Amino acid sequence: MEILRKQFLSHVGQTSDSPLMIEVARAEGIYFYAPDGKRYVDLIAGVSVSNVGHGNPAVVEAVCAQARDYMHIMVYGEMIERPQVRYATAIASLLPAPLESIYFVNSGAEAVEGALKLAKRHTHRTEIISFQNAYHGSTHGSMSVMGGETFVGAYRPLLPDTRKLRYNRFEDLTQITERTACVLVEPVQGESGVNPPAPGFLEALRQRCTETGALLIFDEIQTGFGRTGAMFALQRYGVTPDIVCLAKALGGGMPLGAFVSSNAIMSGLQSDPPLGHITTFGGHPVCCAAGLAALNYIQEHDLATQAEPKGALFEALLRDHPAVREIRRSGLLLAVELGSSERLFRAMALLKEAGYLSDWFLFCDTAFRISPPLTITEEQIRECCADIRTQVLDQL
Ligand code: PLP
Repeated sequence: MEILRKQFLSHVGQTSDSPLMIEVARAEGIYFYAPDGKRYVDLIAGVSVSNVGHGNPAVVEAVCAQARDYMHIMVYGEMIERPQVRYATAIASLLPAPLESIYFVNSGAEAVEGALKLAKRHTHRTEIISFQNAYHGSTHGSMSVMGGETFVGAYRPLLPDTRKLRYNRFEDLTQITERTACVLVEPVQGESGVNPPAPGFLEALRQRCTETGALLIFDEIQTGFGRTGAMFALQRYGVTPDIVCLAKALGGGMPLGAFVSSNAIMSGLQSDPPLGHITTFGGHPVCCAAGLAALNYIQEHDLATQAEPKGALFEALLRDHPAVREIRRSGLLLAVELGSSERLFRAMALLKEAGYLSDWFLFCDTAFRISPPLTITEEQIRECCADIRTQVLDQL
């Protein structure tokens, strides 16, 4: 155990200055277990990844079956691989027209890279607009559209011709012009500490993009697959973008990303020059099989619809505690605001001690995250909230 901890620190590249250092032996449903048997409740689902719960038998079976049939054959886009085609078809059937063409990649950041490249190719423009306190990934391109200077400054120069607007500020939308290639937005901002859109904001953004010919890109990497109470947040908020980025829960626990658009826009990557985006492993058949099994599970168990009442129950059971300043929420994505980072860090330690895994947000270190697997039951929510009140909030 001690040796493993030392090897972890010496040989597994570190970027966190305070890693959680909990060894994982196994995981099931909303729980994971340390080798000594200590049980933890996963309150963050790997940051909105494990929406169908850990070790979901339907996903595990799909992974094993596909691994037995075949794994990697050839770089993306050359071969007809049934799990990939079936998954793309299923996603297209759930998205509004004309979002019908799915380009599979490996991660969220790569989905954002692909979407930005696609917008430049389609519009022949270069300006990229995003929002303050937005998070879209950690590669050079996705960092260029990140909305907080703390994590970005050390890596300049990044992509030129980028501009950050203030989220939910209607008056900033006039900065979108005929020069703008695209506007990238999280329909619900995640890493800013859960900020849902103001009524009419996404509609106004859609309208301004249509007027100026800029493509509207939704980053649904954290909000997709039921998290906000609809399969995709674009359905919950009733706005259809030109491109959607997906990842996290897309792979049902396996690494997978995608950017989705119309065939007309996507065809921009196919000619003059062709191979506008290249990936070896994107759309790996095992990841697609896992993702499809997870998607089917979400639909069969109506998990997207349940996210709203389950999130509301968490909110109702915690919001009247005197230590809680505010709860910001969309579906089963919650930020519990404690008002100061000192209180937050104390809460994090108490949560860990009590057997709860939570996290704060990249751009908000005064609130903790609640975004458990969507499979969490009402009874489990009541149990979690009773523990959080007595073992964490009462102690602050
Ligand atoms: N976009 C959003 C909204 C995210 O929350 C994240 C990851 O947290 C990303 C993009 C980047 O995804 P990945 O870590 O898979 O590159």
